[in-house]
Amino acid sequence: MPDRVPVTAWMPSSEPPVCAVCEQARADLAPEGLAVAGEIAVQLISRGQVGPLVESTVSRLAAALGPGRVSMLVPEAGGKWRVFASSDLSETHDLMVDVERYPELLEVRRTGVPFVVGDASDPRVGDRLRSALGSGGVTSTAAFPVLVFTQTGDPVVLKLSLHVPLDGPRLGLATLVAHLLLHRLSRLPQAETAHQLGLTHAALGAFDPGTLLRLLPIPAVLVDEEGRIVNSNSRAAWLLRGRGGAVSGAVEALPLEPDRPWKGHATRWEATLSGGKEPLPVLGWSNRTGADRTLVLFEPHPETRRRSDERRIRRALADKLRELAAANQMLEEHARRRSRFVSDAAHELKTPLAILRSYLETLDDDLADGLSAEQREFLRAAIHGARRLQRLIAELLDLAALEGGHLAISLGPVAARQVIAAAVDELGPLAAQGGVVLSTRCVDGLQVRSDPERLGQVVRNLVENGLKYTRRGGEVIVNLARQGDRGIISVHDNGVGISPEALPRIFDEFVRGPNSQVAAGAGLGLAIVRRLVLALGGRVWVDSSPGQGSRFFVELPLWSGDA
Ligand code: ADP
Repeated sequence: MPDRVPVTAWMPSSEPPVCAVCEQARADLAPEGLAVAGEIAVQLISRGQVGPLVESTVSRLAAALGPGRVSMLVPEAGGKWRVFASSDLSETHDLMVDVERYPELLEVRRTGVPFVVGDASDPRVGDRLRSALGSGGVTSTAAFPVLVFTQTGDPVVLKLSLHVPLDGPRLGLATLVAHLLLHRLSRLPQAETAHQLGLTHAALGAFDPGTLLRLLPIPAVLVDEEGRIVNSNSRAAWLLRGRGGAVSGAVEALPLEPDRPWKGHATRWEATLSGGKEPLPVLGWSNRTGADRTLVLFEPHPETRRRSDERRIRRALADKLRELAAANQMLEEHARRRSRFVSDAAHELKTPLAILRSYLETLDDDLADGLSAEQREFLRAAIHGARRLQRLIAELLDLAALEGGHLAISLGPVAARQVIAAAVDELGPLAAQGGVVLSTRCVDGLQVRSDPERLGQVVRNLVENGLKYTRRGGEVIVNLARQGDRGIISVHDNGVGISPEALPRIFDEFVRGPNSQVAAGAGLGLAIVRRLVLALGGRVWVDSSPGQGSRFFVELPLWSGDA
């Protein structure tokens, strides 16, 4: 038995597939010892009740080890242990063992790992210990912690006091049996085991270091006053492996910088674990937990943290995408409803308005002579208003049709120059009325891929805007040019221009620029232009500076022979 086994190895936080401690102990056994260990192992597996299981283990082990006593001690409040089972039948369950009188118990309580004195006559054994052992003819002693889940962190102990030296095979057997017992007890339901062992501490269950450590999602260890590891979760066992110069890979004491930081944690809360390739930050430590144990928490390994960060980000992203998709769906639904409402309302208004306008025009034709100048002015204003409303309704219907994707468009070769000429002819009187010179500069024979009617609508809209936003004496020019495989129609004016802040939004529905007070409108013309041009497979953009004028560009593919 080595002087000390790392706690992480003696108290495995979860069952390893092959237990290194059991393997080592088995290797030290003589054939008879192996047979006894086998028998005890069968008993351990077959018995579910803790009491009979412990009693039979204690008596069977004592019989195999020779003269002396084997007992199982359960910690009680006040630093005492209660004898739960003993091979010496003279001892009863009510007997209390005072820890001060038993150095091996003090040691196992302090370190959390087995304490063994194989032969009291060994010169390395100190006088105090020898005299403590010598009473009652005890020549060797051992204490094995087999369960740690009490509030104080004191273990349940399998204790040997033998009248013969604890030589290799005996020690191997005792170690193996103690560890098999440990495996068995840790697999039984904890509350039930505690109950059967009579662990009656008031706070039992409220603080269970083993469970607490297992539940913690980060590496954590429980250390004693000297920084020795008493218990650890598997995350910490993995993280600490090979640090601190431990040969077996497990760490026995925490190589911390500063040493035992919790001693002065009122002033500093930083510590790192040294002794590895790079220092590992300690996240913090708890207040003392009974029996001078301190819970030390480590930062997870950077790789683990990175992976969990990634997982968190991916989850958050997926949530956001879902929210976005739902919001988009809602917006689409709103847009559909608005579009349906606009189109229904416009349809309802269209016919009565046409009738109203025709009556007004008839009145104007037939009664003009009989009206006073003022009456005639009112009538003209009414006709003008009706026309504007009709125009607005036509625009709303176009927009609804474009939004709904059911505006009839038939693409084919379109002589752009003719379309421009027709639009300019139509708007000539309006230009003359406003005192604006309207002209064209068009290349010949350019055929674009478009729909003549829709393209006419686009050009008319842009020219009308040019006329609307250009003062008397200004000019509007419509150009047609070729650029590679594209035809470019541009409408230039030297009117009021558009401010840079308004520019990005002028193609949106119902948006009017700050300059729009110079002319009437509903802010739909450019929105229709943009949708139409997109439907025709082209693009539209604007270049403008306030006070200088604007240039609207429409780019369309040239006709290449395919519809
Ligand atoms: P409307 O002319 O009915 O307001 P439009 O959609 O046609 O609506 O135009 C949107 C806005 O773009 C206008 O309110 C105006 O501010 C600006 N705009 C359009 N064309 C011109 C132009 N040629 N010159 C200056 N501003 C213009």
